[in-house]
Amino acid sequence: MRVRLTKSFAFEAAHDLPTFPANHKCRRLHGHSFRFDVIVEGDVEPAKGFLIDYGDIKIATEPILKRLDHYYLNEIPGLENPTSENLAKWIWDQLQPALPDLSAIIVHETCSSACEYRGP
Ligand SMILES: [Zn+2]
Repeated sequence: MRVRLTKSFAFEAAHDLPTFPANHKCRRLHGHSFRFDVIVEGDVEPAKGFLIDYGDIKIATEPILKRLDHYYLNEIPGLENPTSENLAKWIWDQLQPALPDLSAIIVHETCSSACEYRGP
């Protein structure tokens, strides 16, 4: 049985987007209540009946949340241009070594805007 599990996380952070046009609103310093989904995919061993403990996803993700929550994202190495696209890849790169079954990261910058990254 193949399954995909999703666990969602949230953090608050500020950013500006230096590659947008000079008069674009995203060039100004502003903040978001970001959310992101960590999606893992794999085969369930029948004897176990589950793919991974959701708690293990949380343990793997907590160090990343600590680096993002209430920070100015542009100052974090690798996030000098913190678009949702780059943020999704950055989270993937941090998380994948601890979660080999990682399938996708979805960053929700607002309630209606999201970017999904499925790895290289
Ligand atoms: Zn923004």
